[in-house]
Amino acid sequence: MATIGFIGLGNMGGPMAANLLKAGHTLKGYDLSAEAVARFQEAGGTASASAADAVTGVEIAITMLPAGRHVEAVYLGEDGLIAKAGAGTLFIDSSTIDVATARKVAGEAEAAGMAMVDAPVSGGVGGATAGTLTFMVGGPDQAFESAEPILEVMGKTIVHAGGAGNGQAAKICNNMILGISMIGVSEAFVLAEKLGLDHQKLFDISSTASGQCWSLTTYCPVPGPVPTSPANRDYQAGFTAAMMLKDLKLAQEAANASGANTPLGAEASQIYSLFAGAAEGNGEIDFSGIVRFLRGVR
Ligand code: NAD
Repeated sequence: MATIGFIGLGNMGGPMAANLLKAGHTLKGYDLSAEAVARFQEAGGTASASAADAVTGVEIAITMLPAGRHVEAVYLGEDGLIAKAGAGTLFIDSSTIDVATARKVAGEAEAAGMAMVDAPVSGGVGGATAGTLTFMVGGPDQAFESAEPILEVMGKTIVHAGGAGNGQAAKICNNMILGISMIGVSEAFVLAEKLGLDHQKLFDISSTASGQCWSLTTYCPVPGPVPTSPANRDYQAGFTAAMMLKDLKLAQEAANASGANTPLGAEASQIYSLFAGAAEGNGEIDFSGIVRFLRGVR
């Protein structure tokens, strides 16, 4: 069993840390939110006074923070994790952040002789609670091999996507496909409505034809055909439109920086931005609620 420092005990980090505790690991934790820390203590973790304190004397440090600027602030600088953790500590950053920051922080860790992987997840709060997350991991082979047994406690599928930053690259490429395909499927239903074609008929035909995709067959944006999809509970998230917008923006940042041509990714980012900003609360509804926006409902 390992001694682990866990920083960022929010909606995702909280249940991930709880699963590590349940498996018998010893955890020190830190979060800016007192509520998050209290939940962590209830689950059996020990609260630390600072991020640096949480990584003192641990073998592994895990971070689950909102965005690149938080990751940079926590890892770098005089009081950062890289400076404060003991030699040989393995860093695992599971936050979803921009590829450039992930590579910068991993580079600093490497320069200090520390092992680091970026390991963003998909699967949401449900997957974090159930311990069934998918981890997309970037980093050197040896760091991946050290991280894998710990990630297996929190997830079901662990994929090594290549060197530093490739976990983040895999995550934003996948979610760019998802954002574009959800708009495509939603547009098809909106057109079908105008043409007098029944939702179920379109589903029955397209789910076994060339229009078949996850956004249609698993996460259908209209109520009825897939009873488990958020459309059947008034688009209660699930995966929020705000989260989708965050990932589409990260994809566009990476596309601009690398010179990749992603016109549909850019359009999807614009559409989700308009949707999330169209009415108060839209950002918090499920991303498949984009179908309502395409119908002209704010
Ligand atoms: P969250 O806002 O619930 O949790 C983030 C936590 O980090 C908060 O509790 C906050 O207080 C803490 N924090 C921020 N700065 C800090 C600092 N300097 N030191 C210590 N703690 C700090 O967010 P979340 O939903 O848990 O998401 C975390 C990450 O996981 C994000 O990058 C998100 O994109 C990604 N993600 C979320 C989901 C999801 O469904 N929620 C799914 C996949 C990936």
